[in-house]
Amino acid sequence: MTVQNHNFIAGEWVAGESEIENRNPSDLSDLIGLYAQAGADQLEAALDAARVAQAEWAQAGIERRQKALNAIGEELMARSAELGELLAREEGKPRAEGVGEVFRAGQFFTYYAAETLRQIGDTADSVRAGIEIDIRREPVGVVAVISPWNFPTATASWKIAPALAFGNAVLWKPANITPASAVALTEIISRQDLPKGLFSLVMGSGRSVGQRLVESPKVDAISFTGSVPVGKGIAKAAIDNLTKVQMEMGSKNALAIMDDGDLDIAVAVALGGAFGGSGQKCTASSRLVVHEAVHDAFVEKLVAGTKAFTVGHALEEGTQIGPVVSAEQLQGNLDYLALGKSEGAELLCGGERLDQATEGYYMRPAVFAGTNNAMQVNREEMFAPIACVMKVGSYDEALATVNDTNFGLTSGIVTRSLSRATHFRRNARTGCVMVNLPTAGTDYHVPFGGRGDSSYGPREQGSYATEFYTTVKTAYIAAGAPE
Ligand code: NDP
Repeated sequence: MTVQNHNFIAGEWVAGESEIENRNPSDLSDLIGLYAQAGADQLEAALDAARVAQAEWAQAGIERRQKALNAIGEELMARSAELGELLAREEGKPRAEGVGEVFRAGQFFTYYAAETLRQIGDTADSVRAGIEIDIRREPVGVVAVISPWNFPTATASWKIAPALAFGNAVLWKPANITPASAVALTEIISRQDLPKGLFSLVMGSGRSVGQRLVESPKVDAISFTGSVPVGKGIAKAAIDNLTKVQMEMGSKNALAIMDDGDLDIAVAVALGGAFGGSGQKCTASSRLVVHEAVHDAFVEKLVAGTKAFTVGHALEEGTQIGPVVSAEQLQGNLDYLALGKSEGAELLCGGERLDQATEGYYMRPAVFAGTNNAMQVNREEMFAPIACVMKVGSYDEALATVNDTNFGLTSGIVTRSLSRATHFRRNARTGCVMVNLPTAGTDYHVPFGGRGDSSYGPREQGSYATEFYTTVKTAYIAAGAPE
C-alpha cells in the first residue's frame, strides 16, 4: 500500500490540498510514498500558530530548549543508518553518504543544544552617571526555512537547530523532490517538548508554498539555500516586508593544482571534490586549474580515477556514485556536455547515460580538458558530475583563474609550499579555502558561506549563526535614588 505522508501544521499531521509522488532516482519503479502539498489556508494557520508558540518558547527557559535539541540530535545519530538509507533512496547519493549526512545533521542539533546554554551578553556603563547598560540577544521571531534537495537533512538541520536554539519558531519548506527525509526529521521534532505550533512542516512547490512564505508579512526572517535565480527572487520579495534574509546559493568552485603539490593527493582531492554526491554539491570542485608542469600527468591519473568509479544504485554495496536526482537534472547535464563540446572543450571520458538493472538517472562522470574561463561550462554552476580542467603557466595565473568567477563559496590549492598556501589562503576570494583538501567537506562548529553570488546576509553555522537568528536589545537601567 502506498504511504500517504502529511504536513505537520500547528501541531497536527494534516493532509494537503493535493499530493505528489516521490520516486527513487535509482529505481523509478520504487514509489517511496505520496506527500501532501500545503494549501494557502494551511500556511496561514501554521504562521499564526508559530507566532503564539514562539512567545511561549522565548520564555520557556534555556534548559527546556537544550533538552529538546539534544534529544533530536541524539535520535538522528542513533537512527542514522535507517534514516540515511531513506535519504539515499530518495536523493540518489550512495548509502554511506546518506548515513553520514543524517549523523552530521544530528551533530548540528547537539552542537546548538549546547549553544542554548552559552547565551551570554554584554554589560556597560552609560556615559550618564548612575545608569547601567545590558546588551542581550533575543529571538528574531518566526523563521521560514527553505532548503534544497542535495543535502535535504543536513542543510535543513543547520538552519532549524540554531533557529530553535535561539528561541524562534520555524516553518520549514523542504525541496519538493526530497520530502521523505523532511517527514522523517519532522516526526522526530514533533515528539519533543515544544509548544504546539512552534515547528511546522509545509511541503509544497517553491512556486506556491515557497513564494507565499517569502511574501508573507508574518515571517520575520528567511533562511534559504538554493539556486541564485530563486535567491534573487526571494530577496526582492523579502524587501517589501523588510524581512531579514540569509541566503546560501550556488558556486563554481576551483581547485588549483600546483607543480610543487603531491600528485596523488591532487588526484584524490580532485576526484572526491568533483564527483562526490554526483557533483551535486554547492562546494563541488568543478574547475580544476592545473599548472602546466604537472598537467599531463595529473590529467592521465584523473581520467583513470574517473573511469574507475562504480556508478550504480544508491543502496547497492560498492556503489561510489549514484544516479543524479531527477530527469531534469540529467537532461541539464547532457545539455552542458553538448555545450562544452560546442565551445571547444575536449571530452576525455564519461558523460554517457548508463543502463543499469533498474531504470534510473545514471550517467558516467565526465572530464573536460582544454577549457578556459571564458567558456560557459566554467562560468555556470552545472551541479553535475562534470569536471573542467584548465591549464595555467604559473601560480599567479592559477590564482587569477580561481578568482575569475561571479561566485565565491569555496576554493582549494594543492601545494607543498607554505608561502603559496598562505598567499592563496589570504587572496582567494571565497568564503572557505581548502589547502590540500577537496573544496567540499566542511565542519559543523565553524561558519560556512561565501562571497559574490554565492551568499547574501549573515553567515550560517557555528556561533556566527547568532547574527541571523537573534536580534540585539540594548537596555538602559537607572537604579534610582537609594531608599
Ligand atoms: P532551487 O533554488 O531550485 O530550490 C531551493 C528551494 O527553494 C527548494 O525548496 C525550492 O522548492 C524552493 N523554491 C523554488 N522556487 C521558489 C520561490 N519562488 N520562492 C520560494 N522558494 C522557492 O535549488 P535546488 O533545490 O535545485 O538546489 C540546488 C541549488 O542549491 C544549487 O544551485 C546549489 O548550488 C544550491 N545549494 C547551495 C548550497 C550552499 O550552501 N551554498 C548548499 C546546497 C545547495 P521546490 O523544491 O519546490 O522547487
